[in-house]
Amino acid sequence: MPESPQEETIESALGESAQDKSTLGESTAGASSQGLSEQQTRPASDRLVLARAYRPLCFTDLLGQDHARRVIENALRNNRLHHAILLSGPRGVGKTTLARLISRAINCKSRKSGIDPCGTCSSCEAMSGESLDIVEIDAASHTGVDGVRDIVDGAGYRPIVLRYRVYIIDEVHMLSRSAFNALLKTLEEPPPHLRFLFATTEPDKVPLTVLSRCLRLELRRLDNATLASHYLDVSQREGRVLEEAAAMVIAQAAEGSVRDGLSLLDCAFSESDDKNITLAQIRSMLLLSDGHALYDLLDSIVEEDLALSLSRLDSLLDKGGQPEVLLREIMERLHRLSRFKVSGAIEKSLEPSDRERGALLSERLSLATLSRMWQISLRGYEELRLAPDPRASLDMLVVRLVCAAGMPLPSEVLSRLSRDNASSQPDDERGEEQDTSTSASSLSSKLRATFPNAKIEEQKID
Ligand SMILES: [Zn+2]
Repeated sequence: MPESPQEETIESALGESAQDKSTLGESTAGASSQGLSEQQTRPASDRLVLARAYRPLCFTDLLGQDHARRVIENALRNNRLHHAILLSGPRGVGKTTLARLISRAINCKSRKSGIDPCGTCSSCEAMSGESLDIVEIDAASHTGVDGVRDIVDGAGYRPIVLRYRVYIIDEVHMLSRSAFNALLKTLEEPPPHLRFLFATTEPDKVPLTVLSRCLRLELRRLDNATLASHYLDVSQREGRVLEEAAAMVIAQAAEGSVRDGLSLLDCAFSESDDKNITLAQIRSMLLLSDGHALYDLLDSIVEEDLALSLSRLDSLLDKGGQPEVLLREIMERLHRLSRFKVSGAIEKSLEPSDRERGALLSERLSLATLSRMWQISLRGYEELRLAPDPRASLDMLVVRLVCAAGMPLPSEVLSRLSRDNASSQPDDERGEEQDTSTSASSLSSKLRATFPNAKIEEQKID
């Protein structure tokens, strides 16, 4: 599907941000069902970013979002799609992509299986170029009432070519109150040829009066396994070999956003012409530390070896690790170990060595200790951002983690004390009338006996 020269001119004239907004004129997309992506037929100098090149053109290619997809597909089959749909969800999960897909589907004259746009009818042809009947508005840059006034005033006019005129309003929560008010009447009873598709990352900021007039669909973050498999697929289509563990690391960094991960993959492809993209390459690109070195650090923390912990931390930082990233990685490991304690399974998608080290370490730590280490790290994360010297802040955090790893839990203290108490019961019975100072000193001597390494400060009670 070659792009028309006309679209090329428009795109180059509008620049990158406008390119994304003019995607209705885009006939690109990786469309897995179509074999080769257009990316592969383009000259190298003219390559699209992966997020655009692999934007789905049919519902089957949409990643995840099963619930939203089911609702839309059913409505399309029955020709009962709501005239206003609000798509909400975190960034990069496919809100705008889905809105564009819907606008194509409702206008297509002969949908495939009743849902997917055919791509060949006259409407699909019209939508593959610039179509005046499909209007995309970025509410972030058109917050005022004027942009909405154009919609309201033009509502009565029929679309020029297509069956429906569709307004796709991105980040709709950014519209001002007066803009929302101006839109209400049209939204309530739109002419039959008008459709609204709203996308927002913050649905809570959309007035209830608007929400109640829309079909609301919540799009979710994608899970790491789905993302990783998509990145492997895209890499293969691009003629590259991405290591599975590397795909997983990209998926984790993408935090549920397809687009963020594809941007990272773009960076990886640009960084090296080598066909193979390795885990080490991705780790170094993301400034992540070597997984083994991280587990070595955690091992020495658990062994309460402060000197070794600090020297291992130094070596991680000296190799280019950034304090903030490193702390995030430590926290991610603590989280993973806690999940392992509960479910007994470390994510299959991790590399085997990572799984083995994680399993070994988790055996040595209780869930309560892991939770305490997490809390300390979380507080440390806030402090690290405030600290004038982040490296020193991370040093101090490791000191605290080492102390925490060796500290008995309150439940352990109580159970050991009650055990000791029970064993010394006959002696106590003889001298029941003890004054407070003797009982305080006997408590501290018991604590000392139970925890020989702990520092216990005695406080005089007057
Ligand atoms: Zn069609």
